[in-house]
Amino acid sequence: MIKIDEDTCLRCLACISVCPTGALEEKDGVPVVNDKCTDCGKCIEACPADAISK
Ligand code: SF4
Ligand code: SF4
Repeated sequence: MIKIDEDTCLRCLACISVCPTGALEEKDGVPVVNDKCTDCGKCIEACPADAISK
């Protein structure tokens, strides 16, 4: 399961559009991960702010 650093997040929501499993949902402007995450890493590659880690 990935972790999102809300302080670093730019709220661009690029991670939500690349997630293949629908594991990221926007809540109050910030992406939130749910249990559909397979740790594929696509959101980590897509994040311009390095706000996502495993
Ligand atoms: S891609 Fe990165 S900066 Fe953009 S919303 Fe997702 S976590 Fe935040
Ligand atoms: S690691 Fe993959 S499955 Fe998990 S939230 Fe990121 S893009 Fe979605």
